[in-house]
Amino acid sequence: MRLIDLSPELLQYHTEGFRTFHRHVDTLSEANGVRFLCPRWFKDNGGPVGTHSIICWDPSVPQIARPGPGRWSMVGTGLHDLSLVAGSSSVLLTDGCRWHGFVENGLVRDA
Ligand SMILES: [Zn+2]
Repeated sequence: MRLIDLSPELLQYHTEGFRTFHRHVDTLSEANGVRFLCPRWFKDNGGPVGTHSIICWDPSVPQIARPGPGRWSMVGTGLHDLSLVAGSSSVLLTDGCRWHGFVENGLVRDA
């Protein structure tokens, strides 16, 4: 499955005093996170309706930011070729649907 079919959005995390925000940005160089639809629910639901989102932050985002504790470096030039890279590189949701998989070169696959 291609990441771009999961309605991905690049996110920028920032803080103002004690308040934290994230906003949509257009380029990978501005982003320190990505949000995309859960590939498991997308398949089970036959599309985006009712499908929850997954957010992955890069290591520049403090550990107080949810979700955590996983952090991934965002490698590539954009959403079409994005890889999420970490020690094991896999993304594991530790609650909810417990999807476990990889984002590599713009493709999403189950672990
Ligand atoms: Zn899910």
